[in-house]
Amino acid sequence: MTDLGLYLHIPFCRAICSYCDFYKMQAKTPRIRQYVDYIIKEIDLQEKRFLNANEPFKPTTLYIGGGTPSFIPLSDFKRLLERLNQWFSLETLKEFTIEANPEDLTSEFIDLCKHHHVSRLSIGVQSFNPLAHQVLKRKSVFSDLAKQIDMLKKAGFTNFNLDLMFGIPGMDLESVKEDLELFLSLEPTHMSCYSLILEERTLLYHQYLNDQFKPIDEDLEANIYQLIKETLTCHGFNHYETSNFARAGYESLHNLIYWNNERYLGIGAGSSSYLNDVRWKTVSNLDQYFALLDQGIIGREEEVKLSKPDQMKEEVMLGLRKTKGISLEVFRSKYGEEFLRIFPQSKDLIEQGYLRIENDYLMLNPEYHFLANYVLRKLI
Ligand code: SF4
Repeated sequence: MTDLGLYLHIPFCRAICSYCDFYKMQAKTPRIRQYVDYIIKEIDLQEKRFLNANEPFKPTTLYIGGGTPSFIPLSDFKRLLERLNQWFSLETLKEFTIEANPEDLTSEFIDLCKHHHVSRLSIGVQSFNPLAHQVLKRKSVFSDLAKQIDMLKKAGFTNFNLDLMFGIPGMDLESVKEDLELFLSLEPTHMSCYSLILEERTLLYHQYLNDQFKPIDEDLEANIYQLIKETLTCHGFNHYETSNFARAGYESLHNLIYWNNERYLGIGAGSSSYLNDVRWKTVSNLDQYFALLDQGIIGREEEVKLSKPDQMKEEVMLGLRKTKGISLEVFRSKYGEEFLRIFPQSKDLIEQGYLRIENDYLMLNPEYHFLANYVLRKLI
């Protein structure tokens, strides 16, 4: 049996960032509390579903993301974690990650995480540069972050990720270098580095349409990406996925489930799942989510059953994000097919130097990482 990831979505934030198109909202405590009641109702239904199907539910990883999970009141967080622990033992997870914003890293929050076997925290920093915070409209306060990280380490948390965002107008190579130094001084074990992307239905997109925001030059963005790659690898991080870097042994097991095209169950409004060859999203509307749960239904939207050719294409799109690439052996055992026969175009791309095969893995040549989309179009 392959790995199974469990994801729980908490769609609440203290403030809304200008670039964010995740399913999230601002809400008062009673609404958040109500959501926790309903997410527990969903857990009750999911537990019954697995029992009725006689399928043991044994997730390998748990990831609580959002939104800002650390923003929900601690007493509600506690009852959610306790309910999860009744369903399956949190202690048996290979990895348990919670996303947190710096201002929520209090000693009470850290104790609660420790008590419930959280093994990894992912901290949304994005940048220490005040200019970046103006553009991103992030409200986090970083003055105590070094102390808070120290508190985490003293509590025994050895594994934490910091999110970094680049490609922010006004930030040149020099300011990104300064930013990187500050990130590295906190000694994270993992860094996720994403470029600022203009998404529709965001404040930034609205500003862009009104000429109040201009994205940075593409060449500068490529140079910044290169700088980040070189700096982090120089500091002992392994560049294991297009946007992710980890110290040896600290790769995100949960995200690897996505990139390996394995199974995951999403719980909560707006969460995504992939089980038994079906991909779906749980309804991303709180009132609808609540009303359907009252009828014993976990509402779905965007449900699609993937054919074998679709699954193989997704395996390629996700797998080539990993710098290690796609295991041809795993492809063979999963689909009973030879990769080079199903995707004959890969031979040309290998000859042209875009792709290569090493130790039975098909991977992008590192100098073409920035052309990944072009190579994928040619390949599938
Ligand atoms: S980026 Fe994170 S904190 Fe900001 S609005 Fe989106 S989910 Fe909330």
